[in-house]
Amino acid sequence: TKENGGNNYTVFQPEMAEKQVLRFEIEHELQEAIETQAFDLYFQPKFHSFKRTITGAEVLLRWNHPERGFIPPNIFIPIAEESGLIVAIERSVIERVMACLAKWLEETNECTIPCISINVSVITFLQDDFSSFFRDRLNHYNLDGSLLELEITERVVMQNETKINSILQKLRKTGVKISIDDFGTGYSSLNYLDKLEVDILKIDQTFIQHIEYNQSIVATIQSLAENLKLHTIAEGVETEAQLQALQELGCTEVQGYLFSKPLPQPDFESAYIMHIPV
Ligand code: C2E
Ligand code: CA
Ligand code: CA
Ligand code: CA
Repeated sequence: TKENGGNNYTVFQPEMAEKQVLRFEIEHELQEAIETQAFDLYFQPKFHSFKRTITGAEVLLRWNHPERGFIPPNIFIPIAEESGLIVAIERSVIERVMACLAKWLEETNECTIPCISINVSVITFLQDDFSSFFRDRLNHYNLDGSLLELEITERVVMQNETKINSILQKLRKTGVKISIDDFGTGYSSLNYLDKLEVDILKIDQTFIQHIEYNQSIVATIQSLAENLKLHTIAEGVETEAQLQALQELGCTEVQGYLFSKPLPQPDFESAYIMHIPV
């Protein structure tokens, strides 16, 4: 791509990552990427399913590699997890999101700022000092935790229950909300879910894509959530028909290409933050 003036947007081929040497190289390059802040933060807004107003936004990482082109998170996150680099990456995401929020708070009216959710891997979440790191950074940026949400997967949830709940309790004291991402794809037992201190179930996009066949699964998750006094959000909503099915099932929050793709930070800010008068 360099020969083409660097304007070519090469898409990294997933099967390449299976080659051990390349994997090793990427691991090394990830290290560099952390040091040079080579990751971009994209923001995908979430919406009220009836009012169609913004309710929040999720931060998704993008790595535009200088030689290899765009490497999707599905490739580099697993490598970062295996090498342990994920902790530094995600802590830096948390730090950068908090800096954004602090900036927005200065520039615009506080009550118009959407809650920002951050994906946290099991490795980062289980670090002994994670909750104190999070609290400490909130204090540093003088932020209320309620401006943030942490998305954890069922993989986290299925770890030692006492340990998880003790971390969740400490985190929730800051006001941060906790959601279970990709809900329905893991194997967490329902009895376990009841004891877990979480706020939101994020219904996995595979159920939404073919909601016509998965209507009863989504309805079951919806009523489970209502019984446990949890909120739901459906992800990967691409069509009006899917939206309508979700509305009928009582799911009041949605995210997906129908409303917006993940946006680069400047685009997200001009669409959803900056135009709001102070
Ligand atoms: P996820 O957390 O389940 O994020 C949703 C993925 O679905 C994102 O892919 C998003 O761009 C995509 N998406 C959103 N709306 C639609 C839609 O309407 N249709 C379709 N087909 N896809 C949609 P993305 O950005 O490639 O991220 C993939 C995964 O990488 C994420 O899945 C998440 O597990 C992981 N990831 C991204 N950033 C981070 C991070 O900072 N930390 C961790 N641990 N994982 C991350
Ligand atoms: Ca997520
Ligand atoms: Ca998800
Ligand atoms: Ca996923």
